[in-house]
Amino acid sequence: MKRWTLLLGLLKSQKPLPEGYKHKKCESCRNAQVQSVKNGLKAAVGVAGAVASFAVVVVTKGKVNPKK
Ligand SMILES: [Zn+2]
Repeated sequence: MKRWTLLLGLLKSQKPLPEGYKHKKCESCRNAQVQSVKNGLKAAVGVAGAVASFAVVVVTKGKVNPKK
C-alpha cells in the first residue's frame, strides 16, 4: 500500500507549487520519485543477487559435492 502511495504521489501533487518553482513537482513528490527509483534499484539488485546465488548453487552442485 505504501508503494502505491508513492506511485500515486508521482501522478498527483499533494501540495500546490509556489510561483516560479523551479521543479515541475513539489519536494515530497520528488522525494517519492527518488525513493521509488531507489526501491526499483534495490529490487533489481535483489533479483540479480538471487540469480547469482542460484547460479553459484548450480555451479557448485555440478563440481563440488559438499556431503563428501
Ligand atoms: Zn507534489
